[in-house]
Amino acid sequence: MNSRPNPLFMLRSLLGRPGVARAEIEAFQNARLRRLVRHAWDNVPYYRRLFERHGLKPQDIRTLADLASIPLSSKKDLQPLPTEDVVARGVDVNQLIVHQTSGSTGQPCKIRRTWFEERMLNLFRWRVKWYFGLRAMDRQVSIGLRRPSDPRNDRFQQRLLQALGLYHSSVLDCRQPPQNIVRQLRDLHPTVVNGLSGSLWRVSLELGDADRRVIRPRFIHCGGEVLTPLMRRQVSEGFGAPVYETYGSFEFNIIAWECKETGDYHTCDDALIVEVLKDGRPAAPGERGELIATSLYSFAMPLIRFRLGDIVTRGAALCACGKPFSTIRAIQGRMADCFPLPDGRRLHPFELGILINNAPWVGKFQFLQERLDRIIMRAVPLAAPSPEAIARVRELAAQQLGPKIEFEIALESDIPLEPSGKFRTFRSLVNSNYDDLDWSAMS
Ligand SMILES: [Zn+2]
Repeated sequence: MNSRPNPLFMLRSLLGRPGVARAEIEAFQNARLRRLVRHAWDNVPYYRRLFERHGLKPQDIRTLADLASIPLSSKKDLQPLPTEDVVARGVDVNQLIVHQTSGSTGQPCKIRRTWFEERMLNLFRWRVKWYFGLRAMDRQVSIGLRRPSDPRNDRFQQRLLQALGLYHSSVLDCRQPPQNIVRQLRDLHPTVVNGLSGSLWRVSLELGDADRRVIRPRFIHCGGEVLTPLMRRQVSEGFGAPVYETYGSFEFNIIAWECKETGDYHTCDDALIVEVLKDGRPAAPGERGELIATSLYSFAMPLIRFRLGDIVTRGAALCACGKPFSTIRAIQGRMADCFPLPDGRRLHPFELGILINNAPWVGKFQFLQERLDRIIMRAVPLAAPSPEAIARVRELAAQQLGPKIEFEIALESDIPLEPSGKFRTFRSLVNSNYDDLDWSAMS
């Protein structure tokens, strides 16, 4: 489709008003893609070289159907390059807001955006929270990481809202003991609780009936870490509220959010182009593949067909709820969260989740891949497990892992957080190329 998008499209889509049709979103994606590719060709040396190497000219990219001819890029391609190779000519680098990975073993990859780009992407995040049910008079509490504020990332509009008593929000450091967080939640009476999935889960396990009478959020909004079906149930029961999940990354901000009706995830098609590739071709609905994204709002540092290293299951091309978004059925998480096995398989965290579903004696847990052929299930028991209960887990593990992988159960009194403040339920020491999501920038 080559028609131009409605000039009010951006505003209408951001307000989440009904009436934005799928065809309008696609027209916007096509127009924006053309502009982005032309801009990258003219102004960003990295893309100019990449396109030239592949014999690609800006005029070759007219619509989404031409996307496949653009080569993929990844952090590995951008990391070693000088800033001027990846940032558009004419942009003052010193004015750009920088997001960078922390806790990764590799070199940090810096993603830069203008103040305006940052605000635009955050508006899409706000739209999601409104969809979940956020109201102006809500008291939000985010359980995450407090980070030093970046003077280039002035959030005057948030300060203004707070001063007016609207959308009140506070951050609780997730590195505190969960009991401390519960005490603060009792004082703050939040109506909405946001946070890292693992942190919320740890806190939810501490909540009793007395806490639930005082802490009564309308909904829980989580993301940034793997949330297994069991963890989700425990968070929901712990807080006595529905749990809604968002999926994002520091490269793109919000990528997808949970549909309240179907449980699939709406992809943020009016802010980015999402592709799911399986062995280099588009995955069919229901197939698992690697997520590739193109940001429609990053012009200072374009991200075109960028490999995030995440594995997702493709959903329907249009959500059954009637919203004009395509869907992701499930988010399996970072590739690094999958355990690479000696036979070349990648064990997905949820495949180990079955062990926990069959071990009601487990309170907290963590799966640790120590070596390619050795996995430890660390468990904080609610009550001492019987030898039969342990044997049951071992038997299931043997079925999942096969005979060549050692499996051990380690009973612990507690499982500490990562130095980054995250709680990693699935942690591989074999594949530790993990990039943290900057939750503080997201909340
Ligand atoms: Zn939907």
